[in-house]
Amino acid sequence: MQNKEYDVAIIGAGIAGICAAYELSQKTDLRVILFDKGNEISKRTCPIKNTKNKCQNCKKCSIMNGFGGAGGFSDGKYNITTEFGGWLTDYIDSEKVLKLIKYVDEINMKFGATDDVYSTETKEAKAIEREALKYDLHLLHAKVKHLGTENNFNILCKLYEYLKDRIDILCDTEVKNIKPGVNCYNLLCTSTHSLCDFNIVSKYVIVAPGRSGSEWFSNLCKETLNIEMENNQIDLGVRVELPNQIFEHITANVYEAKLKYISSRGNAVRTFCMNPSGYVVYENTDGTITVNGHSFANKSLGSPNTNFAILVSTKFTEPFKDPYQYGKRTASFSNLLGNGIIVQRYGDLKKGRRTNEKRLKASFTRPTLESATPGDLGYVLQYNQLTDIIEMIEKLDKIAPGTANNDTLLYGVEVKYYSARPKYLTSSLETKCKNLFAIGDGAGVTRGLSQAGASGILVAREIINRINK
Ligand SMILES: Cc1cc2nc3c(=O)[nH]c(=O)nc-3n(C[C@H](O)[C@H](O)[C@H](O)COP(=O)(O)OP(=O)(O)OC[C@H]3O[C@@H](n4cnc5c(N)ncnc54)[C@H](O)[C@@H]3O)c2cc1C
Repeated sequence: MQNKEYDVAIIGAGIAGICAAYELSQKTDLRVILFDKGNEISKRTCPIKNTKNKCQNCKKCSIMNGFGGAGGFSDGKYNITTEFGGWLTDYIDSEKVLKLIKYVDEINMKFGATDDVYSTETKEAKAIEREALKYDLHLLHAKVKHLGTENNFNILCKLYEYLKDRIDILCDTEVKNIKPGVNCYNLLCTSTHSLCDFNIVSKYVIVAPGRSGSEWFSNLCKETLNIEMENNQIDLGVRVELPNQIFEHITANVYEAKLKYISSRGNAVRTFCMNPSGYVVYENTDGTITVNGHSFANKSLGSPNTNFAILVSTKFTEPFKDPYQYGKRTASFSNLLGNGIIVQRYGDLKKGRRTNEKRLKASFTRPTLESATPGDLGYVLQYNQLTDIIEMIEKLDKIAPGTANNDTLLYGVEVKYYSARPKYLTSSLETKCKNLFAIGDGAGVTRGLSQAGASGILVAREIINRINK
């Protein structure tokens, strides 16, 4: 492996890196290598065997790392829209982004994705939108495909089988450094299985490290590549869990309702990642535990609960420049107080008291993340965030009565890190270092499966064009 040469090296086998690899593999004579620091897909297992176990804080989180990336155990909601899910429209026009998103969908379909689509354009969805507007809640427009956790995983397994015969895939291998050479880049890699580090050389490099690798990429840009980074925003909040019946009239029609509200303090608050009959799960980013959610396509695997996030957007002003650390430190309070994730009944939050074991046991809504510690989110989130969340819950209660019930469960915290993004990216997502591209969530240009995949296709096509010239 020492100093082996490639045309293209892709760092990160999440959906962004996978889509780039897929597109490059269509041009068969290119030597492509795809790295991931986590396991290959069939070996990805989380030690949490049931919902009663706490996150073991593994060195490499199997939920976030490995072939398939953070989307590996997601329920694969592919949003066909440019209204959310990333910022590719900062670089190319929205028509082109939509075409790329549709192409990602075609790839998924080739490997077994459903052709069922939910839409906010139907009569029923329009009625939900009208009702929401009465309370200043704004439904974002989208088509969404829900693959389901089990189908999404199977599609990734098939993609792995397809790609492994066409390109080199090195899982369990972390790229530690990228050093510019003459007309090429030298990648310093380390494998869990080998005792020593090794180098590979590649003319083109695509960096697709996802949220779990964004801190590494950001430091690399600053310290080695001399690329300036920008970002000053973070979304923080809770994951709400309540009985399916409360949101059924909405989820049955649009699957997930992305509702946006401007709070009385002027902050943008939104619902995010809705999972009917879903499960609340851990997410581990560099040792910090936060929550997320997913749901299966097979109804018999479903829970009686729907979960979704309520997130408050915060944009910091000078002199503070590190929202990523702010998010991690806020989450670390719940890790400290709750030894992981805290769960609180909404009724207890409003009363300003802790949810203890006894109160949780008496709750009609049973938590799907049983190992969460009953506690008090008042000691974790700040006053502004909590009051915005309470305001949002009361608004949602108008269109989905029961949302503000005492037994509605709130898990904390959910954090959506906006990874720092390299300044001056071109319309083909090339950094100021020639032939070095940055894609997906870890480069701060996307925030969801569809646009992450689209960014991979965009860059792969650009590389193919350059090689063909
Ligand atoms: C539980 C859960 C549910 C979700 N549900 C949805 C959903 O339904 N719809 C949606 O749109 N989004 C969802 N998301 C978000 C979605 O998963 C991400 O937006 C998407 O995975 C981003 O893709 P990516 O390729 O940019 O990064 P990732 O998927 O994070 O992949 C990056 C990969 O790079 C690897 N890596 C990082 N650094 C290095 C390095 N130095 N060397 C080698 N490898 C490295 C990592 O191990 C990782 O596998 C969910 C996320 C989670 C955790």
